[in-house]
Amino acid sequence: MSGSPSITFTVLGGGGEVGATCYRVSVDGCQILLDCGTHPKKEGKDALPALELLRRPPDALIVSHAHVDHIGAIPCLLREFPLTKAVATQPTVRIMDRMLHNSVAVMETLAREKGIREYPLYDHGDVHYAMRCIKGFSMDTPIDLATDPPVQVSFHHAGHVLGSASILLRMPGHTLFYTADICECDQELMGGHTLLDHRLDVDTLVIECTRGATDESHIKCYNEEVNRLADAIDETLRRGGCVLLPCFALGRTQEMLNIVSRLQEEGRIPSVPIFASGLGRAVYEIYDRFDHFLRHDAYLRPLDLFDRVGNVWDPARIDHLLERPCIIIATSGMMVETTPSAMIAREMVKETRHGIFFVGYLDHETLGYKLLHAKPGDFIHFALGYAPVEVVLEYIRRFDFSAHAPRRALQNIIDHFHPRNIIFIHGDPEAIAWMRENTSNGAARFAPLAGDTVELEA
Ligand SMILES: [Zn+2]
Ligand SMILES: [Zn+2]
Repeated sequence: MSGSPSITFTVLGGGGEVGATCYRVSVDGCQILLDCGTHPKKEGKDALPALELLRRPPDALIVSHAHVDHIGAIPCLLREFPLTKAVATQPTVRIMDRMLHNSVAVMETLAREKGIREYPLYDHGDVHYAMRCIKGFSMDTPIDLATDPPVQVSFHHAGHVLGSASILLRMPGHTLFYTADICECDQELMGGHTLLDHRLDVDTLVIECTRGATDESHIKCYNEEVNRLADAIDETLRRGGCVLLPCFALGRTQEMLNIVSRLQEEGRIPSVPIFASGLGRAVYEIYDRFDHFLRHDAYLRPLDLFDRVGNVWDPARIDHLLERPCIIIATSGMMVETTPSAMIAREMVKETRHGIFFVGYLDHETLGYKLLHAKPGDFIHFALGYAPVEVVLEYIRRFDFSAHAPRRALQNIIDHFHPRNIIFIHGDPEAIAWMRENTSNGAARFAPLAGDTVELEA
């Protein structure tokens, strides 16, 4: 009888941080990558995971969902290792195509406007090639990766955004479960994850920790937050202002469009026109095509209910948009400079009648965070090549609509699977430290950083 297989878990990015998510699982020399994203706060090649640690071609790449911090580096990976098999859920494949082509356009703009020489890290041709390599599969269906030794993978509904999945790897003598980004509660369109429906023998659990540093007594329930947002929108529209909701293109945009529509149908807020920006609309079409992946009772409104924002780089267009009360949902969610939400906010802050409401995660170093904490009279720079403007607007608020599980829900998953090893990833250092210190079910606990390898006993 041969000895037990040797299994290792290496972080190439996304350990002790949120960004450049990429992990390698090696089993007897067979190498499987989980996700391959870019870092939203870094630029040029620094934004990539440590792909140089791959000394030979990986056998397979498994993709959990289509947020850029999980997929943004895939065209680089597949250009270097063109024979790598890649798999994801069917909606994720469709969304990836949109997101990656958009990333090329964003990098080309940054190369031009900010002079970042390394951009674009890949071109549209690399994206076409990557999309030819990746195959889409259903949830809960075992896929044989045809590797040596044999490894089987399956996707399980993670409740985070359309097509998002946790990943189960069955290797000889060892089972590894990677939660990826998960949400336990129902959102407007997505139903919560179904991980607790599975009775599995999990040897190693790899668990995200995004909200591990957030004290739960500070987290408001979903409906309470929808009500607070409804009050804020109502107040703004009734005094003749417009509302801007900066949103991530995948997930938050589609959820918010349906929340504000419902509030209008219920007579909770005035029935003014609702506008949505480009990439969010493109992803909306994929939500429509794969609506059977949504909550079984979700009501996804037709996309033609929402108007197009149009060319935000034309100040006359924005002025026209802001003439009458309306609701605008535009990317990016953290209001990165020179994106549609930043260009629209640049005009809105010059008047007091409007409202800007952030509805997602805001990193401390982003324009969105700076604007949220700005005082009237501060000058803020919204876009490359445009002069800073004085902020007159005061009604700028933040609402908590996370699509990540809080501490208690993460601990429920740990208790449910009762793994022998737990690897904590995808969180700020404080979040990971809290989870590691407060989880004690007898498991071996690891918090590896980029470049670290964990040896797992089979
Ligand atoms: Zn995500
Ligand atoms: Zn993520």
